[in-house]
Amino acid sequence: SVFKEGLSKTRSAIVEKVEELITRRKKIDEEFYEELEEILIGADVGVTTVMKLIDELRAEVKARKIEQAAELQPILSEKLVGLLKGGGDPGLNMSADGITVYLFVGVNGVGKTTTIGKLAHKFKSEGKNVLLAAGDTFRAGAIEQLEVWGQRVGVDVIKQQSGSDPAAVMFDAVQAAKQRQVDVLLCDTAGRLQNKTNLMEELNKIFRVIQRELPDAPHEVLLVLDATTGQNALSQAKLFGEKSGVTGLVLTKLDGTAKGGIVIAIRNELNLPVKLVGLGEKMGDLQEFDSEQFVHALFA
Ligand code: GDP
Repeated sequence: SVFKEGLSKTRSAIVEKVEELITRRKKIDEEFYEELEEILIGADVGVTTVMKLIDELRAEVKARKIEQAAELQPILSEKLVGLLKGGGDPGLNMSADGITVYLFVGVNGVGKTTTIGKLAHKFKSEGKNVLLAAGDTFRAGAIEQLEVWGQRVGVDVIKQQSGSDPAAVMFDAVQAAKQRQVDVLLCDTAGRLQNKTNLMEELNKIFRVIQRELPDAPHEVLLVLDATTGQNALSQAKLFGEKSGVTGLVLTKLDGTAKGGIVIAIRNELNLPVKLVGLGEKMGDLQEFDSEQFVHALFA
């Protein structure tokens, strides 16, 4: 599956090492737990989450009177699914009868534009009428980059000049979406980190403009995070998540990292669902997140 291919590096980092550990140590003892901890922390599952996981494993091992390490693998994957499923896999929220609007936020370089392009492709291939809004008027080249994706996928991009007010771009985009009977409007935003307060104010203004025109929008505010940055992604999520009304996370570049355990850490340490994962640079390399499939891709 796409998941399995995209997660091959993480799979090697976690599963192959766990298997090696099981074969080598055979019995579950303190050293076994210590080595297991190291493997999981090394794959960026995060210390807090690993401690919780190991505690749960210990309890289960005791309750079931398990001694052989070989019996642990199914329990480990069961526990991982449990951690990931915390609030369930809610999927993407869509408007029941009107235009669905998604705002994409996150710092430069995490993969916002690419994700918008991939998602536009996904919706278009489902027969939906898609429109993009070039709300990053700040970074040089951001508008053009979104236009390249628009052309590649075959969807229009609403834009203004570089440096213009992003809220004005969003206003135009919503008007255009109404006129053109668009099903899904995907909005890019600026991702500069300097001047954080301004960025948050800008996002709030965008939010208000959209809401004034479409009272039930935006239907998602998706924070895009680069999985290869590991624990850094977690800090960004904490920073953004508090202030900008984020409803879900997109984790990109999972194909490029052995530290895919970050998905588990994020799921366990934040009260935000992972909604999409990026598993490559191509148009089709985006998946809606499914915790069972994720763990299955790692262990099966
Ligand atoms: P933005 O600044 O947040 O809009 O980031 P971009 O969309 O420009 O992406 C930055 C780089 O990351 C580009 O080279 C993308 O091709 C790459 N990228 C984005 N998503 C993924 C992914 O899921 N996997 C891989 N391998 N690369 C990705």
